[in-house]
Amino acid sequence: MKALDELTFDNRFARLGDAFSTHVLPDPLDEPRLVVASDAAMALLDLDPAVAQTPVFAELFSGHKLWEAAEPRAMVYSGHQFGGYSPQLGDGRGLLLGEVYNAAGEHWDLHLKGAGMTPYSRMGDGRAVLRSSIREFLASEALHALGIPSSRALCVIGSSTPVWREKQERGAMVLRLAPSHIRFGHFEYFYYTKKHEQQAELAEHVLNLHYPECREQPEPYLAMFREIVERNAEMIAKWQAYGFCHGVMNTDNMSILGITFDFGPFAFLDDFDAHFICNHSDHEGRYSFSNQVPIGQWNLSALAQALTPFISVDALKEALGLYLPLYQAHYLDLMRRRLGLTTAEEDDQKLVERLLALMQNSGVDYTLFFRRLGDESAALAVARSRDDFVDMAGFDAWADLYKARVARDGAYSEEQRRARMHAVNPLYILRNYLAQNAIAAAEAGDYSEVQRLHEVLTKPFEEQAGMEQYAQRPPDWGKHLEISCSS
Ligand code: AMP
Ligand code: MG
Repeated sequence: MKALDELTFDNRFARLGDAFSTHVLPDPLDEPRLVVASDAAMALLDLDPAVAQTPVFAELFSGHKLWEAAEPRAMVYSGHQFGGYSPQLGDGRGLLLGEVYNAAGEHWDLHLKGAGMTPYSRMGDGRAVLRSSIREFLASEALHALGIPSSRALCVIGSSTPVWREKQERGAMVLRLAPSHIRFGHFEYFYYTKKHEQQAELAEHVLNLHYPECREQPEPYLAMFREIVERNAEMIAKWQAYGFCHGVMNTDNMSILGITFDFGPFAFLDDFDAHFICNHSDHEGRYSFSNQVPIGQWNLSALAQALTPFISVDALKEALGLYLPLYQAHYLDLMRRRLGLTTAEEDDQKLVERLLALMQNSGVDYTLFFRRLGDESAALAVARSRDDFVDMAGFDAWADLYKARVARDGAYSEEQRRARMHAVNPLYILRNYLAQNAIAAAEAGDYSEVQRLHEVLTKPFEEQAGMEQYAQRPPDWGKHLEISCSS
């Protein structure tokens, strides 16, 4: 276990130089105070969780103090936003403080979001508000606990600094951890500005640090792109299987590592709705729940375009062709497990599709349906869920297919079925209304609800005593919360 001043830095991205990022010092927040910290994320840095309670912790992660070995930098990138190319983006309100490596030899980027203006702030104020910082913190840690690849969050620090959004709010910072903060948009920036030399440097950097095994392949860059395609297919399959809607799948929010990245107006589905749009500024539904799958491929094509200096177009097209079949395989595998199936049959895809079609417009809670399905035998569980469906006859027909399918799957006890299904079907997810409750309390100065919700979400598959209220469907007020993009 390390103390805060014992972190070891090795700032590999900073060493790429000024073509890639700009030195900027964090602009401190007034009266910093710890809102919440993640013990699990602290462990990634070998930090003793007790250090979160020391004053220096809040000072470090609110811009008041800096390690001598840190080299805070704002990265430059660009990206496709809602389908159109934005030639100049970059860290407008976040700074890469440096890269820390732990005893296991892993490197973690320390990124402080909400750290003030940078050369890439454009019209923005460089700040993040408490509400959005809490949402990013909770989402990162909750996704990770569900087994969905994600950036991580070490802590949220609140403050008294006023920040203007639709109304006056308070500034906060979230300390994000990820093995890399390189986005698809980094490659696009150097490609479209025709900075060929730097683009080659960036590609080498990513290959060497993050895809070293691809070096062994005859075409290392192609192998790396294939791996990126695979990781994205798997990540998005998990989003779809667990009902996660990212909301702003612009290419500047897509990580080169295939991890969930840059949380904005995201949401988990409450009632199942394939057409759900969580971002209320997304009028056309470009990033609706079901569109995430084709958009994943669209984003990979945008990256492929930026990689044409290194890889032939034919090879890129072939690699892109892997995306959908890989997505489908991962998705079906997860959905089979969510249904308690251990074997594969040809018609399983149809079984899943039929179920989702019945759920659509029925007002069935997506998470609780699967959780309850595992509570007892298939026959009892479907009988109990029947009333939730508008098309009961349709559901009965599905239930017959399902029971027969379960019978063919194998003989196992109810306990075995429950244990297996509960291990993949969470009881607790980050519902928007739960986040909203925690945020309202935090805005009034009480951080205990954020902390409790975070605790519950770190063990989403385990029933926790006294935590029933976190496993409930939303009350009426919490059903259709509009999450603003302003954060
Ligand atoms: P996001 O929607 O958070 O992914 O941000 C898109 C771009 O806008 C990135 O370049 C951000 O750094 C920048 N940005 C977002 N909010 C602010 C802000 N309040 N101040 C400065 N830049 C911002
Ligand atoms: Mg972003």
